[in-house]
Amino acid sequence: MKYVLAGASGFLGKALTRDLVANGHQVLRLVRRPASGPDEVRWDPARGDLDPAALDDPDVLVNLAGANIGRPWTPTYRMTIRESRVSTTATLAAAATRLDRRPVLLTQSGIGGYGTDLGDRILTEDSELGEGFLSDVVRLWEGALEPAREAGSRVAALRTGVVLDSKAPAFRLLSLPFRIGLGGRLGPGTQYFPVVSLTDWIRAVRHVAENDSVSGPVNITLPTPATNRELTEALATALHRPSSVPVPAFLMKAALGEFAWELLGSKRALPTRLQSTGFTFHHPTVTAAISAALA
Ligand code: NDP
Repeated sequence: MKYVLAGASGFLGKALTRDLVANGHQVLRLVRRPASGPDEVRWDPARGDLDPAALDDPDVLVNLAGANIGRPWTPTYRMTIRESRVSTTATLAAAATRLDRRPVLLTQSGIGGYGTDLGDRILTEDSELGEGFLSDVVRLWEGALEPAREAGSRVAALRTGVVLDSKAPAFRLLSLPFRIGLGGRLGPGTQYFPVVSLTDWIRAVRHVAENDSVSGPVNITLPTPATNRELTEALATALHRPSSVPVPAFLMKAALGEFAWELLGSKRALPTRLQSTGFTFHHPTVTAAISAALA
């Protein structure tokens, strides 16, 4: 199949590109700098600028672009977080409407859209999106798919938990304190903390891309949701290190600002749509996902 990837230079984009190419698919990368070869096409999502003809009749468009949400959310940076997701999705959706053969359009999205701290409540794709900055971003991000859906494309939003892999910046940050013997749960540790292994994330994206029966929001998280304490203990065991130094909530808020709430809040999400369409996880538990990340 012919895939077009936005955000292909990022952590997830590179991992997906490697897997697709290894499995015989064609990948065209959208880049915001001048293209440097036949596998790249220049675009300017901030201006909605993308020539559909340059996409060469693709089967699937995937948006993995988005400015890092782990930085302080100043008013200006909030705009960057929002626009880097909405403008990229909207630009791809507009291109999809102008192609003779309607491609599938997928955009990455986040579990954070359900809200910040939802306790033990089970979150499926039928759950309402919540209130607050990230929920608003997710509403607009996923809403930007709409013109493509109306024009006849199959569209889906990949609501992903934290993707675990030893090379992932987020996982490195999470595991660093353990490596120096200072690891521990974040805040209370009782909060559900949605994660997925990189292998299963890639397999899930391909499942959605290749199955005509999957559309709309799709949660990509472990089928057995784990709390932050369970994740922490699995990480400590896998690294043969103690899990004895909890990171206090106030310290996280001081270091990370509002983003800390995303790590301290509870989100018990289930991958209902994936499982109801026949997807099975290679790493269904937090222990298996951590082992895979460290392998
Ligand atoms: P990276 O930060 O590694 O890559 C993001 C990509 O987005 C970059 O390659 C860049 O592509 C593009 N980008 C960055 N800033 C902008 C901008 N201002 N305008 C347009 N494009 C921009 O992120 P990941 O690969 O880790 O994640 C990809 C997406 O998935 C992000 O939206 C992220 O929030 C989301 N996500 C990630 C999770 C994870 O665990 N990694 C979990 C849940 C969601 P280029 O410069 O080449 O254009």
